[in-house]
Order: sequence, then C-alpha cells, then structure tokens
Amino acid sequence: MKLEYAGHTLELISIEEARKHVANGMVCYDFTKFTAINTCPTFGVLRYALHRTESSSSRSMAIDAGKACHDYFAALRVWSLRTQHKDRSELITKIGLHATRLFGSVRYAEMLSAAQDAPDPFSNAINFCLPALHTSGFYDSPTDRRRTMANLEQSCLSYTSRYLMSEMPVILEGDLVGVELPFCILFRETKSQRPRFIYTGRIDGLHRYNNIPHIAENKTAFRLDDVWRMMFHTSNQVTGYMVAATLMLKKEVTDGFVMGTQIPQPKSMTDGVAFEQVSRNASDFERWAEWSLHSIDLYEKFITRPTEAPRYTHSCNRYFHACQFIPFCTMPREEQADMIEAMAVEEWSPLDHVGEVADNSTGDV
Ligand code: SF4
Repeated sequence: MKLEYAGHTLELISIEEARKHVANGMVCYDFTKFTAINTCPTFGVLRYALHRTESSSSRSMAIDAGKACHDYFAALRVWSLRTQHKDRSELITKIGLHATRLFGSVRYAEMLSAAQDAPDPFSNAINFCLPALHTSGFYDSPTDRRRTMANLEQSCLSYTSRYLMSEMPVILEGDLVGVELPFCILFRETKSQRPRFIYTGRIDGLHRYNNIPHIAENKTAFRLDDVWRMMFHTSNQVTGYMVAATLMLKKEVTDGFVMGTQIPQPKSMTDGVAFEQVSRNASDFERWAEWSLHSIDLYEKFITRPTEAPRYTHSCNRYFHACQFIPFCTMPREEQADMIEAMAVEEWSPLDHVGEVADNSTGDV
C-alpha cells in the first residue's frame, strides 16, 4: 500500500532498507528531530544536524522514569495478548518471539515465571508486568523525590486498573503483533519518484476499540489536566503514527488513544490516569506531510550556515530548563563558528533510536 500527501508518495520500508538508504546519503528524520527545528532552528541544526552538544552527561530523571514505565506498559500489552489467546499455542509462540525481541530472553523469562494463579486478572497482570519495571534499569536519585521506583510502581498499578477496565484488545494480525512497532516511511517525490527522505518512529500499541483500529501512545506526566489533553488533538506525533498504522494494516487508521499516567499519583480521589481519545482526517494527514517538508526545508537551509539560523528565544527556557546552547547564542557571530568546532559531538540517529524504547515522557514528569 502507498499513500500520497503533499506531492509525495509514502511507503513502508524495513529498518534494513532504511539503513541502506542512509548509508547512501539519505537523511532520516523523526518527530523529535522535526520538533527540535521548529522549537528553535539554531537548536535543531546544532543538536540534530551537526550533532553538537554542550550539555553535561547528567541523568534525565524524566526520560528514565518514562522509559521504565514504558517497559511496564509494553509488558501489560504482552500479558493481555497472552491471556486473550491462551488456548492458541501458535499465537502464544508468535507473541513470545515478539516479547523476546522487546525485552530479551532473560527478562521475558522472569516475566513468564511470575505466578498466574490469582483469582483476579489485576493480580496476575501486575505479577507478570512488575518484573519488566524492576529490570528496566531505573534507580532512585537522592535529588528527586517525585520519580522514585515506589511512585513508578504506584502509577503503573493505577494504569493497569484502568487498562483492564477498557475493552480494547491489542491487534494480532498475520505477522503483526501490536506492541512497540517500529516503522520507517520512505517519502518519494510523486512526479519524479525520486526518494527524498525517511520518517521513522515507534508506535506503542495498536488496539481495536469498538472493532475499529486505534493507535495507542503512552505518556507519563506530572499533571494530566485539560492543557495536557488538548495538545494531543493536533499533535503531529500522533498523526504520524496513524499514517504509519495505515500503511502497516493496509486500511485507514484515523483514531487513537493517548494514555497518560501521572507520576506521582495524585493524592485526590482520581486515579491519575487519562485515556484521551483522538481522531484525524485526510486534511490532518496532508498537513502533517506539509509540516514534515517545512521542517526539512529549515534543516537544509541552515545546516551549512548554522550561525545564520534564526534564534527562537521564546524556547530558551522550555520545560523549565535553560537551553544548553545559551552560552553559544550570547556570543557574536564571528566567534560562533569556532565555538561549534569546540563543542562535543554526540551522534544522534533516529534509526538507532527507533530500535530502542522511545522517550515517551512529555517532558515535565
Ligand atoms: S539558547 Fe535559545 S535561541 Fe539559542 S539555540 Fe537555545 S533555544 Fe535557540
């Protein structure tokens, strides 16, 4: 199946094919890279095109906590698939192979060894999934009292409760197991069929709800309020996942859920979990492709002249953190070229990231 948006033809290719294209000089993008150039062109070009960094290698607790919970969320999808298909040995094998790719054989074996004889699904689910959280590599920091393993556990239990109340089975269709699905979309110019670029990402889950396919995107956040909910009704990240899901399932996917989990859980009576239903239409897909092309134009315009890239100074303090490039941006142009040369290089490749668990924190956990 191929799609046509913004004068380009889109088709799914394998990660191996994408790597070959990149080896031949094609550029690969993802939502993070596109967002960076639109947040601030100077930041995007320095960090994601020239791979420069000024940041210390200090740990990001928000990202670590998001990744650890993400392992748990994937485990819960695997558990629900195993429960749903427990009488079909060939499907259990297929699910097992997929889970082994996600978690590795040792971690998956630990999940499989968990007791499953409780009378209620909730206990069986958390017995299976907690080892995924505990072996995620997350550890407490003495300077962060919000993001602790105890708080992560509490949030994951609340999420499990809500998830089990929702009637949305994970899709298992042919070779497709709807848990943690990486994708690479090749964009070709429709007129010339010239390959232009690759867009890559990773869908957290593919579900059916009311028998309609839905993408699912997990998020962890400090607060799940109306502002949090509303941003996903336009998010290009969600739209891109629906395009990818359409190509994967070979049928239009225009619906999804953004599944938010609060860390730590609120002290009020609410459970700190929000499943926000979102939908898109053909116009949204066209605009998503236009945004992609606009982002690439910005990268291509300034990659060879980064000191001329605009400075979007409203972004210097985004997510309440000072941008790592503030010292660079305070210097006159004549000195900036030398500063870029002196910066550390930390290669950042979307294709490498798509093979890992994605950063699913909304940045303010
Ligand atoms: S300091 Fe501000 S203007 Fe400079 S790169 Fe960062 S966000 Fe952009």
